[in-house]
Amino acid sequence: MTTSGPVLRIAYLYPDLMNLYADRGNVTCLERRCAWRGVTPKVQRLEWNDRLAGTSDLYVIGGGQDRQQQLASEGLTTRNADQILSDLGDGAAMLAVCGGYQLMAHRYRAADGSELAGLGVFDAETLHPGSDVPRCIGNVVCDWKGSRLVGFENHGGRTYLGSTSVPLAQVVRGHGNNSEDGTEGAVAGSAIGTYLHGSVLPKNPHLADHIIRSALARAAPDFNLAPLDDADEWAAHRAALRVAGLR
Ligand code: GLN
Repeated sequence: MTTSGPVLRIAYLYPDLMNLYADRGNVTCLERRCAWRGVTPKVQRLEWNDRLAGTSDLYVIGGGQDRQQQLASEGLTTRNADQILSDLGDGAAMLAVCGGYQLMAHRYRAADGSELAGLGVFDAETLHPGSDVPRCIGNVVCDWKGSRLVGFENHGGRTYLGSTSVPLAQVVRGHGNNSEDGTEGAVAGSAIGTYLHGSVLPKNPHLADHIIRSALARAAPDFNLAPLDDADEWAAHRAALRVAGLR
């Protein structure tokens, strides 16, 4: 690993609360893919009581159950909203997965009917229809920028995009945002929300590099990200396609 290149400041939000289905692998993947190209990742892990210590180029948050989301919602909205929203407004990137994605939209109405406030990064809201309604569970394949994304989803909440929201991808297999309109995830500036666990980035290296490039556009706009040999990553991607019944 070389350390002569730029530093990429990554804020990993609530790793203890929000880490379902190996979502922490997204941060490991980003760290490794940066280091392999001479970008030095500096990861700040935010615990529940913490306030962010300064600016970040990339925010990452994983999924969590309703109880953990309640704590995360409080930590985000009462202690860290200003820093996150100001960085995103200044071009920082974000990857928010499932429960984390829900908390980056306007609000999440949980299974018990309680309302959790979100940060409003995405013009969307999520309604959980109740624990007697089947969850959206299974392997997901979607169309994204002329290629595919693969992952695994497990959520009760249904996310509905507002009129100013842009979906991340179109569902080919699985449920996506709400199992009704064929959309999956959302994009706002350089922020991406998605229901894809997995972890999603190791087996979608094109998405991982898209996120790194978005963050580098703020941190080091002239830096040239070298290509990697992603043979193993694409083998994992193809295996996920096969598991989902596609080739
Ligand atoms: N608790 C949320 C739901 O069920 C999110 C779950 C998750 O992050 N996998 O909709």
